[in-house]
Amino acid sequence: LEATRDEVVAEPSETADGHHVSLQANVEFPQEFPLLHTFGAEGVGLFRTEMLFLTQGRALDEEQQFEVYRDAVAAAAPHAVTFRLLDLGGDKVLPMARREANPFLGWRGLRILLDKPEILRPQIRAILRAAAASGETDAPARLLLPMVSSLDEVRLTRAAIREVIAELEEAGVEHRSDIQVGIMVEVPAVALMADRFARVSDFFSIGTNDLTQFTLAVDRGNDLVAGRYRELHPAVLGLIAQTVEAAHARGIPVSVCGEMAADPRITPLLVGLGVDSLSASPAYLSLVKRVLRALTMDEARDLATRALRQPDADAVGRLLDYWLVCHN
Ligand code: PEP
Ligand code: MG
Repeated sequence: LEATRDEVVAEPSETADGHHVSLQANVEFPQEFPLLHTFGAEGVGLFRTEMLFLTQGRALDEEQQFEVYRDAVAAAAPHAVTFRLLDLGGDKVLPMARREANPFLGWRGLRILLDKPEILRPQIRAILRAAAASGETDAPARLLLPMVSSLDEVRLTRAAIREVIAELEEAGVEHRSDIQVGIMVEVPAVALMADRFARVSDFFSIGTNDLTQFTLAVDRGNDLVAGRYRELHPAVLGLIAQTVEAAHARGIPVSVCGEMAADPRITPLLVGLGVDSLSASPAYLSLVKRVLRALTMDEARDLATRALRQPDADAVGRLLDYWLVCHN
């Protein structure tokens, strides 16, 4: 643990017994792109593209989006940028949006995009075009669908992507058509049916922030119930375990991009649950890597098995603390 940050950044992100876990960055703004290099991120695991719209207070057109996405792809090369399609709604509301009684259960993410092709299509076009601007990177961009709750939503979005590709081809516009399409696993229904969602997805990204709020029925932004918002709740961990198992049975990778991924205390647990990559704000990646490099897969798996058997989040927390003390 004496290594400096720069030394850690230069080291491979793998366990002590050589199991690679990809550490990627969550980004929201172009100002963060240089941090990918500073903190040695293996690309962007989550680009919250809606933040661009929210800070401007309005929608960006295709060309404005293309310029930002192209810069993101260039900053991440030779790794990929995972562009999450606009996840508006919930607590991320544009000024012109209607007020809703239960915004987190309301018109959000993919639900808005499927109702509003005039927002969905320019974004897909901008991403596919930006992916082509990257030169030699094999897989410069991936598309991530937010707030999925049904198989139909995935099928309809994939159909829209195919149509956009056909349009770009027809018009002779430079683009990449071989883009991977994955989904956010952040609604319990999706985790519970992960085997079926794995058949229509190229990868999973577990959004533990929303998954926790929906599994425990605790609003993630309400301070009256903040103490009840527990991402270490064994029910949440069970859904993560089930999601990973279903994904790996179909050969697709799983990442965690919620706040849990940024917490080095939780790193051994997520690795032990079999997660293939962690995506967090760049500044946390070196801390997470230090812990990752100090553990073996056997230890991590054993910890995960024991965590799943605990009765509540406090007991899981104690188990993680005890583990860290014993391994330092
Ligand atoms: C999540 O829900 O865990 C997630 C990463 O998405 P967001 O925090 O943007 O809702
Ligand atoms: Mg979310």
